[in-house]
Amino acid sequence: MTAATDKTLARLDGMRDEMVSTLQEAIAIQSINPTYPDQDYDDLVGGETAVSQLLAGHYREAGAETQLFGDAAGRDNVVGVVRGTGGGRSLIFNGHVDVVPAGDAGAWTHDPFAGHVDGTHIWGRGSVDMKSGLVAQAFAARALHESGVRLRGDLILQGVAGEENLEHHLGTSLVLGNGFVAHGAIIAEPTGAVGPLSVMPATPGVLVMRITVTGKTGHASARSLMRAQLRSSPDEEPIAASALDSALRVHDALRRLEDEWEVTLTDPLFEPGQFTIGLDVIDGGARAARNVAFIPDETTLDYAIFYPPSVDVATIQSEITATVARAAEADPWLRRNLPKVEWPMHYPGGRTDRSDPLCQTVVAAREEAAAGTAYAGAPDVRPFPSATDLTWFTAAGIPAVGLGPGSLSMAHAVDERCAIDEIVVAAKAYAAAAIRWCGAV
Ligand SMILES: [Zn+2]
Repeated sequence: MTAATDKTLARLDGMRDEMVSTLQEAIAIQSINPTYPDQDYDDLVGGETAVSQLLAGHYREAGAETQLFGDAAGRDNVVGVVRGTGGGRSLIFNGHVDVVPAGDAGAWTHDPFAGHVDGTHIWGRGSVDMKSGLVAQAFAARALHESGVRLRGDLILQGVAGEENLEHHLGTSLVLGNGFVAHGAIIAEPTGAVGPLSVMPATPGVLVMRITVTGKTGHASARSLMRAQLRSSPDEEPIAASALDSALRVHDALRRLEDEWEVTLTDPLFEPGQFTIGLDVIDGGARAARNVAFIPDETTLDYAIFYPPSVDVATIQSEITATVARAAEADPWLRRNLPKVEWPMHYPGGRTDRSDPLCQTVVAAREEAAAGTAYAGAPDVRPFPSATDLTWFTAAGIPAVGLGPGSLSMAHAVDERCAIDEIVVAAKAYAAAAIRWCGAV
């Protein structure tokens, strides 16, 4: 360990209590994403800016020049730039300032916005996702400054709005578009999965698909005649056609494709079977009445699809539409009444190779920071399970990895809470990574 790292990590031990009280302040600001489903925008807007203002104060304590800006009133991002002495690589610390709603506050053991602290954990909405990571990044920068460590490369601190509703155009993409770019980025999303403080260098592509199947309604008792017609004269106009029967035939074909994907879709950063075609919502019945007295004439199937970041989305879409087309060809009704396939949402993936110097730097820094603690040892390296802002960094040519305190299973959950020791180790890992990546004088 270098002398610079040594004194910075020791400084962070001394900042533990202040880190916890700052996190309590951050949790008390109800920065619920105002466009999140079923929320009152006017009621909630402004929380994101308030967290950005809180962070700006700490960024200034780290010697940063700060700016608040956004694309919607009350939804400001914050950026702090700690200028390097020159000659080193620059690094971004990124996290989002918004949180998801707390849901039924009565279901929580402690008030979700009180920032309750027990012997080991800090509780509350955003304690894991992801105010502890944001505060740990700010304190890492402060500890460097307060220890008199000057980095060679610039350190750019980013707190962004809108992430929880995938509004990257208001947050990370806007910040990067305003020129706050660097040679690498660490995103402080919670990465505790199998083990705590994993390093996550990839995020899958996420695609939402809706399949609409139209049938022909009739009385439920016409089903036997409908089935007999299908067998004897499949090419004639039937008395009725069940949209649900046909839709489930299409779904069956997609389930077989999902099985094939376990073998055909691979990425060395992902486990086999991590790419999936999940039917999550099914809606069907007769237009006239959702009632068992009628043969259903409309069905929609809504899928969430996770695919490898290294594969083009058009390839995924054409594989799926070909599968749907083959299933339709085998179904006499669907042959003449093709299912409609739509793609309401797409969020591309991103990846940074395990061998990339940034990934290696963060793995080494994480190990250095955790030495002698309960978190000691080599970290697990695995992808994020879902969409993150990592996408927008790698799309901009900036290698990026996730590393943050808290377990993914606690994100968005009732009784969300984060281990304080883990927050301190994360802050140390950020500081150690900055010294390794940017160089120090
Ligand atoms: Zn998050």
